[in-house]
Amino acid sequence: MRQTTIAIALVPLAFAVSASGLAQTSADTAGKKAPSVQTSESQGGMTPASALEKLKKGNARFVEKNMKSRDWLAKVSATAGGQYPFAVILACMDSRAPIEIIFDQGIGDIFGIRIAGNIVNDDVLGSMEYATKVVGSKQLVVLGHTSCGAVKGAIDDAKLGNLTGLLAKIRPAVSVSGPGSAKDDAYVNKVVQANISQAMKEIREKSPTIKAQLDAGTVGLVGAIYDVSTGKVTFLPD
Ligand SMILES: [Zn+2]
Repeated sequence: MRQTTIAIALVPLAFAVSASGLAQTSADTAGKKAPSVQTSESQGGMTPASALEKLKKGNARFVEKNMKSRDWLAKVSATAGGQYPFAVILACMDSRAPIEIIFDQGIGDIFGIRIAGNIVNDDVLGSMEYATKVVGSKQLVVLGHTSCGAVKGAIDDAKLGNLTGLLAKIRPAVSVSGPGSAKDDAYVNKVVQANISQAMKEIREKSPTIKAQLDAGTVGLVGAIYDVSTGKVTFLPD
């Protein structure tokens, strides 16, 4: 009985959300604020620099406890017909680094590619090519983070099933960082940074599609590190 009551209560709510989404494309006569989502026009008006600025401002809001208040279901409705994300973020799968939250972004704003150790492979490159060349995203970010377990595993040369091959992709970053221990936070973060540089290098070298867009200046590529103890994202110099 209780289930039935809830179901009935949800019907008008769903209708209200749908009506709210429609308000974005027509005059909002009800006076309610229309949900702000990325559109073809808003995305087309952005540059790599403005996309990067948007991410920086979003993380600043997150760190300052000043995140935007969002009507999530209204955004679901407003983005149902298409998506125009302005950035693509290759991040680690780490549960402490959820990208939409730490950059204070909503539904339809950013493409997220998440995999342990934010490593690059052909499928990651294919996803980035789709996001930039087909959908029009302006900024690529390789986001590593402090205390990365995948990086620690690579330092320790850990072996486990399919994980072995994944960690092997991080090993070059360990090699260029010289000797060190996974128990040394400073060393781990040094490898994290080298791993980001490695990923950025691979993106440029292994994807002619992305390289052409980078050379033309229509897409940007930047590295960044998320600090799991402060919530702050530090963007790395070129
Ligand atoms: Zn990680």
